[in-house]
Amino acid sequence: MQLNTLIERVEVPAREGRLVRLAAGRRVRVTTETGGQVGDLFAFTGDDLSEHLSAAHTRAHLDRLFPAVGEQFVTDRRRPILTLVEDTSPGRHDLLIPACDPARYRALGVTSPHASCAENLRHALAGLGRELPVVPQPVNVFMDIPVDPAGGLAWLPSPAPPGAAITFEAVRDSVVVVSACPQDLVGINARGPQPLVVEVVEGARA
Ligand SMILES: [Zn+2]
Repeated sequence: MQLNTLIERVEVPAREGRLVRLAAGRRVRVTTETGGQVGDLFAFTGDDLSEHLSAAHTRAHLDRLFPAVGEQFVTDRRRPILTLVEDTSPGRHDLLIPACDPARYRALGVTSPHASCAENLRHALAGLGRELPVVPQPVNVFMDIPVDPAGGLAWLPSPAPPGAAITFEAVRDSVVVVSACPQDLVGINARGPQPLVVEVVEGARA
């Protein structure tokens, strides 16, 4: 098959998460068709969820806050898992902030049930029959959290325009979960929670 031949297309409804399997060499493309929607992306090696993409290990591996195109994300065992291969957005993605979870929304004053990226991840993985001991820190695509010289963080609305996409290539067989972040109390989603599109496409190795 040719590079970028579509293998699977999954719509991630607003506030929900979805799982795709990625054979080594294939690519996963995340698109914000509306623009301005943050996605929390998690990756694990195969169905054995004991090894995961690690934001902290990736920062140490690269000496950068986020990989540049051509650079790799690594796992908690410091093995490459995904390569960033293409980015049509303004390139603002976060590797510092943990997934939103029920405690985060309670702290923001929410008293009724509220969807979260952590719960979306657990729901997406439920079919694999394994329980996650901890929720790994995600790759927050299209999420703009600049660091100022004094070390302060700002939570800015996503600058990704409609149709912006980011593409990763699997270095090894992976399970990838993408959550369309349901955050509606902190203004990171420029248009409020919106859907995302996740596509698995053929990579350059095929
Ligand atoms: Zn979230």
